[in-house]
Amino acid sequence: MGLLKPTLVRMKAARGANCNIICGITIGRYAIIGAGAVVTKNISDHALVVGNAGQEIGLVCVCKERLTEDLRCMVCDKSIKKMLKRNSEKGIREIK
Ligand SMILES: [Zn+2]
Repeated sequence: MGLLKPTLVRMKAARGANCNIICGITIGRYAIIGAGAVVTKNISDHALVVGNAGQEIGLVCVCKERLTEDLRCMVCDKSIKKMLKRNSEKGIREIK
């Protein structure tokens, strides 16, 4: 038997019902994992992940709304570019 690795769920990340997360995975800040998703890789900040195996299909805002292609939120009008710049200034990992 191997040693179980800790799973890290960062601030404000949300997990849907019945999702499965492999141990040792890190789920980024504000990320959303869809119901029933199977997560086998680390999840970036603000990522929206669904399916088996889990795939990143988009990005979400801090208000959990899906971002447009130009990375803006239609609800709160924030830009994820500014959020990521602010996070990188604080030493927080950027999305890929
Ligand atoms: Zn928003």
